[in-house]
Amino acid sequence: MIDPAPPGVLRRRARTVLNRLRKRYGELVPPRRSDPLEELILTVLSQHTSDVNAERAFEGLRAALPTWDAVVRAPTRSVADAIRSGGLADTKAPRIQAILREVEERRGAFDLSFLAELSDDDARAELVSLPGVGPKTAAVVLSFSLGRDAMPVDTHVHRVTRRLGLVPPKTSAERADRLLHELVPEGLRTPLHVALIRLGREICKAPTPRCGICPLKDICPTAPRYLVG
Ligand code: SF4
Repeated sequence: MIDPAPPGVLRRRARTVLNRLRKRYGELVPPRRSDPLEELILTVLSQHTSDVNAERAFEGLRAALPTWDAVVRAPTRSVADAIRSGGLADTKAPRIQAILREVEERRGAFDLSFLAELSDDDARAELVSLPGVGPKTAAVVLSFSLGRDAMPVDTHVHRVTRRLGLVPPKTSAERADRLLHELVPEGLRTPLHVALIRLGREICKAPTPRCGICPLKDICPTAPRYLVG
C-alpha cells in the first residue's frame, strides 16, 4: 500500500512528471477537432475500444447516415450496424441517439457550439447533463474540442496516476477526475493528460509496467516493486 503524500508534495510531483515527460516526448499537443458535437459522439464511440476503431466507427456512421437528423430518425438497429466496427454497438447506438435527441430538444438544432461561450464549469455542467455523459467524456470535449484546460481520466490516466501516487490506490475514475483537477495547476492539465496517455500506452502498461525504462522511476512509489531483482 502506498501512503498518500501531502498535497504540496503531490503538486510538485505532478509538475516533475510533466517536465520529465516533456523532455522525453517533446511538445504535448492534444488531437484537435473543431466541432463539439462531433467530438462528443466520437468520444462515446471510443469507449472501451481503440482510437482507430472509434474513428472507423465514426466514419461508418457518417457514411451510412450523413446527418445527425438521419442518425436520430434511423432505427437504432441501423445505427448499431453502422458503428459495429467500434464494439459495443448495441449499447452505443441508443446512447448516441439519446444524446442527439436531447441536444435537438434543448437547442432546436444539432449544435453544441454555444458551449464555447460558457465558462469551463458551465460548459462541463451542460455536457454532464446530457444522457450517458460522464466526467471523462465531458473533459474530452472541453479539452480537445473547446481548447479548455481539462484532464480526462481515461483508463491510462487512471492507472498511471494511481501508480505514481498522485491519487490514492483505490480511487475510482470519477473521484480521480475531481482530485486531479484540484491537484494539477491550471494550464498543465491537458498536456499532462496527453503525456500520461503516451506513458500508459508505451511504458506504464497494464498489467505490468516497464519501470526499468521509465523516466519517472526515481520518483514513482510503485517502481521499487517492479525493479527488485
Ligand atoms: S516507474 Fe513504473 S509504475 Fe511508475 S510510472 Fe513508470 S512505469 Fe509506471
